[in-house]
Amino acid sequence: MSTDFTVLVVDDEKHNRQLLTELLQHECRLVLAKNGEQALARASEQQPDLILLDVVMPDMSGHAVIRQLKEDDGTRDIPVIFITALDSFDDQETGLELGAVDYIAKPFHPPIVRARVRNHLRLVEQRRLLEQLAMLDNLTGIPNRRRFVETLAQEWRRCLRHALPLSLIVADIDHFKRINDTYGHAQGDDALRSVAQALKWAVHRPGDFVCRYGGEEFVLLLPGVDADGAFAFADCVRQHIATMPLQTANGKPLQLTLSLGGASHVPTVPDVSDALFLAADRALYDAKHAGRNRVVWAPPRADGPGTRRLAGPGAPAMPR
Ligand SMILES: [Mg+2]
Repeated sequence: MSTDFTVLVVDDEKHNRQLLTELLQHECRLVLAKNGEQALARASEQQPDLILLDVVMPDMSGHAVIRQLKEDDGTRDIPVIFITALDSFDDQETGLELGAVDYIAKPFHPPIVRARVRNHLRLVEQRRLLEQLAMLDNLTGIPNRRRFVETLAQEWRRCLRHALPLSLIVADIDHFKRINDTYGHAQGDDALRSVAQALKWAVHRPGDFVCRYGGEEFVLLLPGVDADGAFAFADCVRQHIATMPLQTANGKPLQLTLSLGGASHVPTVPDVSDALFLAADRALYDAKHAGRNRVVWAPPRADGPGTRRLAGPGAPAMPR
């Protein structure tokens, strides 16, 4: 089992913490807590993959601790194994009803402790893998819309904390239906994969994000980038795609273009509103209507009409 896993061991007796450390130190990274209060703080800070939780502790019982863990969105899904000397069926029943996944009995029987911990870490590993797969788009291999919703919420909070702008770009392949109709769906799929790779290549700063939102639509997130920077970036992407030839099955090169709509905002409230996405999507709509293969940026929100900016063939120079 890899030491990528973090296990939080909660026991009021030092002797037990030491014993479990000796038993498990080669299986995982260990974090120790000697009471319920510490356990809750460390669970939320360190996000362990598994918690071994003593039932009988002086200030707060293990049952009280698991109740609080299950009430918190940040710790609810961390599996908990109870450590107990109590072997009554009632206690086991209470623990399992409260959401524990298993029991380890005291005094410890080393091979059983190790086997139980290993089994549960293996389940954690499988779940992690499934979660990762569920966040990827099958066709292009880049993140999907589900992952986008999660990332947007994270980046929104991060930008709020640091008073940074967050820019969002919606990019859509022009006349995609025509590609499918003319060259067939395999060629359409190739086009989607090529654009996905090009976008993935374009976003390379840590924190930058791209996903396939659905159909032929992609969304990019640029945390910490203001409207000027993001607009220039979007136009680079547009130019890159417009000069990137795609080989078709019959040998004729096919030229794709993208229409892009963007919006930027410095978050001021903790919860993401749909306004940023809707503003970018509205700008995309305008880019399509202005003739495609261009970038339109949403005017700044709240105060004044702002300037709707445009870049692309035949567009006026970008106002600065
Ligand atoms: Mg105890």
